[in-house]
Amino acid sequence: MPTSKILPYDVIIVGAGINGCCSAYTLAQAGLNVALIDQDGIAAGGSGAAGAFISPKISKAGELKEIMSQAHAEALEFYTTHFPQFTLTKPLLHIANSPQEADKLEHFKRETTLQHSKIDDELKSLLTSEASVDSYIYFTEGAVVDAQGVCEAMVQEIDFYPLKVEKLIHSDGVWQVGELRAKHIILSIGAYPKLLPIDYVGLRGIWGHRIDIITSTHIPCILHHHVSISPTSKEGIVAIGATHDVHYSPFTDEPYDREQGRVQLLEKASKTLKLNNINIINDYTGLRSGSNDYLPMLGSLVNAEATLLKYPHLKHGERVDPSEYTYYPNLTMINGSGGYGFVLAPYLAKRLKEFIVEGRAIDPILSPSRFFPRWAKRQS
Ligand SMILES: Cc1cc2nc3c(=O)[nH]c(=O)nc-3n(C[C@H](O)[C@H](O)[C@H](O)COP(=O)(O)OP(=O)(O)OC[C@H]3O[C@@H](n4cnc5c(N)ncnc54)[C@H](O)[C@@H]3O)c2cc1C
Repeated sequence: MPTSKILPYDVIIVGAGINGCCSAYTLAQAGLNVALIDQDGIAAGGSGAAGAFISPKISKAGELKEIMSQAHAEALEFYTTHFPQFTLTKPLLHIANSPQEADKLEHFKRETTLQHSKIDDELKSLLTSEASVDSYIYFTEGAVVDAQGVCEAMVQEIDFYPLKVEKLIHSDGVWQVGELRAKHIILSIGAYPKLLPIDYVGLRGIWGHRIDIITSTHIPCILHHHVSISPTSKEGIVAIGATHDVHYSPFTDEPYDREQGRVQLLEKASKTLKLNNINIINDYTGLRSGSNDYLPMLGSLVNAEATLLKYPHLKHGERVDPSEYTYYPNLTMINGSGGYGFVLAPYLAKRLKEFIVEGRAIDPILSPSRFFPRWAKRQS
């Protein structure tokens, strides 16, 4: 922990997952003096567990699709340019795992501008009969990053403080966290307990598990089916992962059944292809945090109490322009990336930098305040 430079920073970032690390990197590149805090270390939460595929989201036309395609293009460019040593590029085979997904996938296939082709016989011969008959899309260009490695590389020049933040104080125009001071604060704490009374922000944590294995089966591409199976940037290591447990929460006393998780991952992987001589060498678990409308969140946070005092009729459904709400000053949340944290992080960090450094407005569609009016109406 740096000791010589307690005061003051331009920005304090709470949470060193991919969102916190990528924001720290991008803001520091823009010349800001950044302090990064995490209770458990770098990429210790959902980010460390991620398969970290830079995959397009298979979705139908709409705002979500537009944001995700832009984010996907920016992420491919970002990781391959700045962190090539942690990025493996491979073709990506996405196989639909349900009739509903097949429908979405066929629709996506007709509209996408991303290059894709038919799979060749060699790849076909690896797949199970279930995987071969299903609807698929085979992208020429996919990528997977080393989750831990890339997060650590992003913040190697940043002052890191291993602290659990209990309280945020804003006084005389400055945010205080323990002994640290900064004008701006960024909250990138994923699905962990909120540090402010912001019940209107609907976030759902879903538990995931990834295993790194060694197998004698050669896997020529990234595969998404019932689980993700992929070679990694670490020679000889194959990752199998999924956020597949919607019931488990690490915030209860109940322990996670790791053995059961391993069995489930391998069972699901076996529906796609046969993996021979498997040796599991590591497990990674964590929560990913998704928003209720699947769009990520980037923006200022409404101070609910102050806003309801100012506009009590919000409780009766009166419409108030969001620019009139009271916001926590110089505080920005970055969260809600769901299963696409690594895809979205460069896109969100870039817009965060434009907002803080250049004063450019963030697209209101990303604002966490989008959930506020509906919540306020329920408070009557
Ligand atoms: C198994 C699995 C597979 C995934 N696969 C992919 C994938 O292939 N591609 C992809 O793009 N995404 C994937 N994801 C999703 C991705 O991991 C998440 O979207 C991403 O990790 C979210 O990052 P984050 O920085 O917002 O949150 P997190 O990584 O959860 O980071 C939050 C951090 O905040 C810290 N923190 C919280 N509260 C405090 C506090 N009070 N004081 C100090 N520190 C605090 C925590 O310790 C934690 O380190 C996957 C997720 C999982 C679990």
